[in-house]
Amino acid sequence: MLAPLTAPVPEHLTPHDLVTYFRCPYEMELAREQHARAMGRPLLSPRTPLDVVPLRHSPMFAPPLGHLEVNEGRLDLSEHDVLVYEDAGEDDLPVLFPPERVRLDARFTNGHSTLIDAELGIAGRPDLVIQQGDGACVPLEYKETHLFVGYHEAHGRLFDTVQAIAECRLVHTVFGRRPPYGIVLYGDAAGGGEREGWVQIPYGDAEERWLKVVLAQVREDTVRAPVPAERNCGSCEPNAEGLCRFAAARYEGPHHHQSFLASRRA
Ligand code: SF4
Repeated sequence: MLAPLTAPVPEHLTPHDLVTYFRCPYEMELAREQHARAMGRPLLSPRTPLDVVPLRHSPMFAPPLGHLEVNEGRLDLSEHDVLVYEDAGEDDLPVLFPPERVRLDARFTNGHSTLIDAELGIAGRPDLVIQQGDGACVPLEYKETHLFVGYHEAHGRLFDTVQAIAECRLVHTVFGRRPPYGIVLYGDAAGGGEREGWVQIPYGDAEERWLKVVLAQVREDTVRAPVPAERNCGSCEPNAEGLCRFAAARYEGPHHHQSFLASRRA
């Protein structure tokens, strides 16, 4: 008798998975294992074989960067913009809207804040979603400690672009309209806001195509090799627990990547 035909379920991925894969595929494997352990879920062993050969760079194709709009200063909000979504799991999000312009979508309150795209097999939680006057919904990711100075030199901001594009797709799926762009807001809580800035990352056909290609690329990668480098390993959380035998540097904290880039620029 023939087995029933069922479509294979694609490997579940999050915007955060894509960001870690873009840095180091093995970090993605270890971070997912750490997360499963923390959540009390069954552990999936990393795919990475024991005799893996480390790489110099992640194999992930870089995202399109053609039309980023980089803005210094405070985020521009129109009086017609309202807040329709907030990640309830984040404590330190900026208060950008007065109470009368907070109209949270009831589907994502009471602890249900994960946005799911079943077609692409991805799920995640942007920090905020802003509904603009014309009805478009735009995800916003807040980076509290990533100072804006040197934006153009900081290759690390490519990671933020990866995350923003994946979150745009989630917002498109859930709110039913393609966002024209995603926003990454770089705060400066410690410096009184002097070095704030924000970037609009366009989300069009090219970005959506790129996302589909890299999701397939990640899923087809049976090796998920390590990319040992100071720029990666110093801020790699599995490295903080001594989980990686390929580490090229000691763990220096979650913001090491920015400090590393700043020291290179000095
Ligand atoms: S310590 Fe370095 S090589 Fe190892 S998983 Fe982390 S980033 Fe990759």
